[in-house]
Amino acid sequence: MNNSLSNKILKKRFMITGGAGFIGSSLIRFLIEKTSHQVLNLDKLTYASNIESLKNVSKNSRYQFVQGDICNKEIISKLFTEFKPDIVMHLAAETHVDRSIDGPANFIQTNVIGTLVMLECAREYWNKKKNKNNFIFHHISTDEVYGSLDNTKDFFTETTSYNPSSPYSASKASSDHLVRSWGHTYGLPIIITNCSNNYGPYQFPEKLIPLMITNALEGRPLPVYGDGKQIRDWLYVDDHADALFKVVINGRVGETYNIGGHNEKTNLEVVNTLCTILDKLKPPKNISVNSYSDLIEFVFDRPGHDKRYAIDASKIQKELKWVPQESFESGMEKTVKWYLDNNIWISNIIDGTYKTNRLGSSIQKKT
Ligand code: NAD
Repeated sequence: MNNSLSNKILKKRFMITGGAGFIGSSLIRFLIEKTSHQVLNLDKLTYASNIESLKNVSKNSRYQFVQGDICNKEIISKLFTEFKPDIVMHLAAETHVDRSIDGPANFIQTNVIGTLVMLECAREYWNKKKNKNNFIFHHISTDEVYGSLDNTKDFFTETTSYNPSSPYSASKASSDHLVRSWGHTYGLPIIITNCSNNYGPYQFPEKLIPLMITNALEGRPLPVYGDGKQIRDWLYVDDHADALFKVVINGRVGETYNIGGHNEKTNLEVVNTLCTILDKLKPPKNISVNSYSDLIEFVFDRPGHDKRYAIDASKIQKELKWVPQESFESGMEKTVKWYLDNNIWISNIIDGTYKTNRLGSSIQKKT
């Protein structure tokens, strides 16, 4: 059964959590620029967020922003009552694996307790709702919940058992289980998506690709963990946003959809690709190397580093006719160009200005 939103999608009310982050901001730009829906963005504005990523849509009358914590039941419950969402897309999370190893408690608090609060508020709201079919809770998750693959022929499917290995992936796995159980136990209309590694514009520069680009441009070392042979599947972020929209509008309630780009690359291949594009677009004139790849340095591997992730995305492709628009090569070129053209976005993060800029933004502050 297709979810009942599909035939009546002219104007829906989307509540997005974590919309000031990397993927959430891509999704909101998509919803405002390419659809006619109403969007409420609820975000705590942690260090990983950047409200400037939403500059182009923030004045649109269909967009509103509320600063708040998903762990705060009072705020979330009030937002459900006041905004009356038809669709919740839950992206808010702590997301950096290295940080989860240094300090796991925040990850459990936001990713597990925060999701519990979201589910309980959604259930309370949905129970009182007259048209119960006109609601969906879409939980956005990661392929990391499935653990690591050793055999190069295996892929994660929607029925692969969970086997998370970092505090981050364990917290996301817990939240997936909670969401699924709220569907089974209470009948809450839920959908879960598990996606591979995203890359693209507006990604916080602690993550692999923007970190390497910013380090390279400053002539600093490009630190690659271990032997750099860990394999990840890479997807351009706007292709993920497109997939999320297709799932929430036309996906089947209660289902899980894996999303991936069929772009399996070792970390070293990713860094070398970036260096080659940078060599072409901005040859390293002011630093003492012939190619940016000369800056690559192998550093001590992080504990529990998974070997290989690979997604089988055939279900979403068959059922929802979704295929990524960007190849790895075209997406990487677009990404590098974006970081070169938007140096100010990065430098505002590096010098901390992005934190003060958000105080001047016209937001409704709830905490
Ligand atoms: P991100 O770190 O860029 O953004 C997370 C956002 O959540 C930030 O804006 C932050 O302020 C907000 N947030 C954090 N804690 C909050 C709280 N307690 N209350 C309200 N807001 C809070 O993350 P991302 O890369 O955009 O990932 C978004 C979602 O997609 C996450 O759930 C992540 O697990 C999932 N995901 C990410 C990837 C990836 O490659 N980045 C891949 C698959 C799935």
